[in-house]
Amino acid sequence: MNCPLCGQDRTNVLTDRLRNGEKLRVFHCPECDLGFLEERKDEAELKRYYRNEYRKAYKPDVRGQADAERLFDSAVGFQQDRVARIERYLRRDAAVLDVGCSSGAFLFHIKDKVKEAVGVEIDPEAAKFASERCGCPVYTDYLAETPLAKRSFDAVCAFQVMEHVGNPLEFLLQLKDYAKEDGLLYVEVPNLRDVLVSAFDLPNYRTFYFRSAHLFYFSERSLRILLDQAGLEGDFFYSQDYHLVNHLNWVLRDRPQPRAEDGMGEPAFPVRPGTDGRAEAALNGFLARVNREYKELLSELGMTSKIGFIARRKREANG
Ligand SMILES: [Zn+2]
Repeated sequence: MNCPLCGQDRTNVLTDRLRNGEKLRVFHCPECDLGFLEERKDEAELKRYYRNEYRKAYKPDVRGQADAERLFDSAVGFQQDRVARIERYLRRDAAVLDVGCSSGAFLFHIKDKVKEAVGVEIDPEAAKFASERCGCPVYTDYLAETPLAKRSFDAVCAFQVMEHVGNPLEFLLQLKDYAKEDGLLYVEVPNLRDVLVSAFDLPNYRTFYFRSAHLFYFSERSLRILLDQAGLEGDFFYSQDYHLVNHLNWVLRDRPQPRAEDGMGEPAFPVRPGTDGRAEAALNGFLARVNREYKELLSELGMTSKIGFIARRKREANG
């Protein structure tokens, strides 16, 4: 199986089992550190899939509903890092585009900080919810099919989207088309170097991590190659959303917590009602410090759950 990024054929297999019991292989190119699914749906199949089926297969609760509102509620409290990272680059009159905005958790926070916030989301239920909740236009077609003008955005964002697209290079080039000449691309994807999959020996996490909806698995190395191919240059960031207790749950039980947000935000001990408030604060204060240190360590090691970049067009070399 040839690597879709560098073309070389000396690839190995990362896994032959995926989440939800699916049996497909994920290949890995040792040259560019790219993971890629052996069978990738074509564009028409992908569109049909994301319009109708994706949210039924992947949801924030292990059991239960995954409607647009539930999706929004599970994500809206965890956007601070994303907002903080881009905020300092944006003026009040900026225009921001969020591609694959889901039910609008990021748009909800960014809309009041800029002049124009626009979403693109092909799941019609999520798009409708995002548009109503955020008061922003949200288009339900692929970016190129919308009436949006090219070169009109100060920042084009795509969070947890590029791992789903059939051709990441074309996708980046398209985002670039919609950014102004000095505009930014703000992209975030799951990290192939996530400590739970790249360092810890957790067979069930491995199966949970690899999924048929993710056509590609990126690390800093493969992303740098992609950026270069797309004529972009940028700064990378590492971001860890799941906390230490979530990781200990995996380490001890090798299974997910019931709801995605149980593992996000600040961890807390399960304190009995009536416990001395100072004791509770001291115990959870300790947990917060250790959690912060753990996340910093994962960032230093490049082993966080997410990786991304803020990039712009490469400056032409002047003689
Ligand atoms: Zn390669």
